[in-house]
Amino acid sequence: MSLAIVHSRAQIGVDAPSVTVEAHLANGLPSLALVGLPETAVKESKDRVRSAILNCALDFPPRRITLNLAPADLPKDGGRFDLAIALGILAASGQLPAESLTSLECLGELALSGAIRPVQGVLPAALAARQAGRTLVVPKENAEEASLATGLSVLAVEHLLELVAHLNGQTPLSPYQPQGLLRHTQPYPDLAEVQGQIAAKRALLVAAAGNHNLLLSGPPGTGKTLLASRLPGLLPPLTEEEALQVAAIRSVASHTPLQSWPQRPFRHPHHSASGPALVGGGSRPQPGEITLAHHGVLFLDELPEFDRRVLEVLREPLESGQIVIARARDKVSFPARFQLVAAMNPCPCGFLGDPSGRCRCSTEQIQRYRGKLSGPLLDRIDLHITVARESTQLDAPVDNGDTSAAAASRVAAARDIQLQRQGIANAFLDLPGLRAHCALADADRQWLEHACERLTLSLRSAHRVLKVARTLADLQAQEQISRQHLAEALQYRTSL
Ligand SMILES: [Zn+2]
Repeated sequence: MSLAIVHSRAQIGVDAPSVTVEAHLANGLPSLALVGLPETAVKESKDRVRSAILNCALDFPPRRITLNLAPADLPKDGGRFDLAIALGILAASGQLPAESLTSLECLGELALSGAIRPVQGVLPAALAARQAGRTLVVPKENAEEASLATGLSVLAVEHLLELVAHLNGQTPLSPYQPQGLLRHTQPYPDLAEVQGQIAAKRALLVAAAGNHNLLLSGPPGTGKTLLASRLPGLLPPLTEEEALQVAAIRSVASHTPLQSWPQRPFRHPHHSASGPALVGGGSRPQPGEITLAHHGVLFLDELPEFDRRVLEVLREPLESGQIVIARARDKVSFPARFQLVAAMNPCPCGFLGDPSGRCRCSTEQIQRYRGKLSGPLLDRIDLHITVARESTQLDAPVDNGDTSAAAASRVAAARDIQLQRQGIANAFLDLPGLRAHCALADADRQWLEHACERLTLSLRSAHRVLKVARTLADLQAQEQISRQHLAEALQYRTSL
């Protein structure tokens, strides 16, 4: 047999498209040609594979070797194909039975000694291998991650010789048994730990119940960050599929280890974060904060301080739930279905309206500060709420309201109603959905129209009011939206 085929997987965004490594041996002067890899990657991979095979006291065939990584137009980099290339050469030269490779997919970088080193982005490859019904061979350090794809057969290997002995039937390996090492969750911070702020907590509950985006406006020190960090604990637990998507994103993002799996992400990038750090990018595209917040919460504190161009980019993922990153030759898309919680001060110094009278900001300064946020972005935030400073009297009775557990069960009940009625959360209702599920009594519709005129709200804003009112009715398990629901929903549009 002078031709062998080995299956592997590339990594593009959070996808793991199939790559076939074909190894062909022909008579002629000894040489090694690699087709389908970029120049520098070819050289490095060639050297590693040759050294690893020789250092394992295996035979590096002195023939004309051609290796093709197909499809050719797929970007491939890193050392993840080393192991597949080495197996291809060994099978084509008769040192391995070629048929032992047909039901396998291989990932792993080779050290010169033949030791197998971990690679990035194993979970997406594991999910794809499970779909293809093949066994996945991975470096031992990646085995726990691969085993998150339940039902997938995983072979964990530390050294090339170990795998060769397995494939030759000399020392068979048994499938990797998951240790459950990555499945540990930390309790979410509790809502009842935040002092007072009953109105803001109510808004947080409504946001969780209908998946609405939320803007908190108020002076520094009023607990906006504390409030925002409580939102993930109010949301329903991730489904298995959502949890795997979140883990797959972590898997392809460098410097972001798989931890606290399977919890909803809470990401709070600083306002000085660069565009690529926030939305993703780079020559080898990496997911940004908005993708790391997929199925979770993205908290942007001091919203007007963010680069305005970056904020404008958020409009696309807020609508579509994904971000497309254009590169010189192609495009990569990352999922980005996050719930946005933004916070801002009422003025540049933060103390506008504070009883202390500390604010010295001019009207012009205040307008310029608020003007940094565009209407279209604010339009995508259903709930706007002012967070006031709590009383500083030490002996004043404080009502801390619901615990997170109590609030979460109300959220779950309201979400169930939405899923049964329309299959999606209220925040995602489109125009036909609004017509079908947010019908108002005639008198209430007229009342809302008058109110919108009086407050000069756009039609888009009026639709947001309706969605929030729908959520308020669902929280009370009421089929009909009432005027009381509309009135509360309107309050959440008028604080800016
Ligand atoms: Zn001020």
